[in-house]
Amino acid sequence: MLKVLICASEVAPIIKLGGLGDVVGSLPKSLEKIGVDADVVVPFVPSAKIEGLKVYKSMDIQVPYDGESRSVGVYATKLPGSFVDVYLLKYDKFFGEAGKSAFLNNMAETKIFSFFSRCVVELIKTRFNTYDVVHCNDWHTGLITHILEDELSLERPATIMTIHNLSYQGVGDTQILKEVGLDSSCHKTIEWDISDGDVNFLMQGIASADFVNTVSPSYAKELLVQEDSSKISQVLTSRQDRFIGILNGLDYSAYPREFNADNYQSIKSLAKKNLSQELGIDLENTPVFSVVTRLDPNQKGLDILLEVLPEVVERGGKFILLGSGNKEWEAKFKESANKLGLDNVSINTTFDTELAVRIYEASDFFLIPSKFEPCGLTQMISMWYGAIPVVHAVGGLRDTVKEGKTGFLFDKYSAVAFKKSLNKCFNTYKSPLHSDMIKECLKADFSFDKSAKSYKELYDKAVQIRQDAFVEI
Ligand code: ADP
Repeated sequence: MLKVLICASEVAPIIKLGGLGDVVGSLPKSLEKIGVDADVVVPFVPSAKIEGLKVYKSMDIQVPYDGESRSVGVYATKLPGSFVDVYLLKYDKFFGEAGKSAFLNNMAETKIFSFFSRCVVELIKTRFNTYDVVHCNDWHTGLITHILEDELSLERPATIMTIHNLSYQGVGDTQILKEVGLDSSCHKTIEWDISDGDVNFLMQGIASADFVNTVSPSYAKELLVQEDSSKISQVLTSRQDRFIGILNGLDYSAYPREFNADNYQSIKSLAKKNLSQELGIDLENTPVFSVVTRLDPNQKGLDILLEVLPEVVERGGKFILLGSGNKEWEAKFKESANKLGLDNVSINTTFDTELAVRIYEASDFFLIPSKFEPCGLTQMISMWYGAIPVVHAVGGLRDTVKEGKTGFLFDKYSAVAFKKSLNKCFNTYKSPLHSDMIKECLKADFSFDKSAKSYKELYDKAVQIRQDAFVEI
């Protein structure tokens, strides 16, 4: 049986900061169903939700870092609802500072995750010959492949690097390399990378993994055609024969619903009524538009969203935002709500996964105007709850939403194009097409089981590449 170690900064529902956590929580459960035995390793951060889980300390490992041997506790638990083993690595001095917010992407974080990468390799060494594949996710795990090569050389497992979002690369001080024990003169790509004064974790992972993938076929294409001479683009282009896109899926068991094609109207009405009371805004008998997102102005299309809000309200729509992570944009949306009326717009600036579900349930339309979107999960979740997604046609949004069937797409990133799609929403609201589209959305299947099959194929390929390399030598 193929044995895989999935390494990441988060795993839902234990640690969830964004979509990465959802994916890392879903993938091993779906792999389990098709006979792939995957473990997960994450840092034991203070925000880890372990209430009700059996967590036991399995061992201490000694991790060399910055000239000292550090004792790291390896705690084991099961991913809820599965037999998947999750290892939580405890070292409060570093991991006590992590897990507060996704995508901080600062220098302190790169140090923390360089240490995490070293810990993961030490864990793999203590479990020598256990893993066939080490599956790294995003920049946090970008140094693992190099360290693994140094430590185990030919005996190392095959490696995969998954890019969940290329815009977060983990750029750190070159001093980190010394601390983590990587000799740049032994790795050509590191030498080339640090010639400009810093080290790019994600780029290192892309350069040195046996195989690289990202989280949708369209995003994979977009990354290869982007006109940019950055080093990371050059590296990705050089690896295009070992680079594919695999669409993420959703773990539907994490999103219980009562909806079906027969009862969705009454359930949605009830959800609107309840949410009206909770948020103090009357949502009943009006089209409800909503957004649940990290407030990332570079990615999530916040500028054009803010621009179209007045029109949504003028035309009789109600708008709900659940978004956090950027004080400036929180203030901008609150200011707009004050102007447009708090009985028309509800701005909620917390990170609250349960409120998120109540919003999905109560919404008619779900807005995702992202400038770019590697895969995106919120369009899949909104469809599941019968809220029609309105999306900018990029990345995974393009791969999952069908115009006029399961949603509305606009091609050009502009408020004008966005408004045209919103116009379609108002024209469709309560029409026969609306019911047809909701029924299509409720039927859409993005279960992770499909993605897991593709990951299994990828793992098999990586193992084959590894075996071929072994034979050649
Ligand atoms: P990203 O990974 O870029 O944040 P995704 O669409 O892939 O975007 O995943 C976002 C996930 O995080 C979804 O499950 C969404 O419901 C959740 N989410 C985002 N913001 C919030 C919030 N403020 N409160 C609760 N859940 C949120």
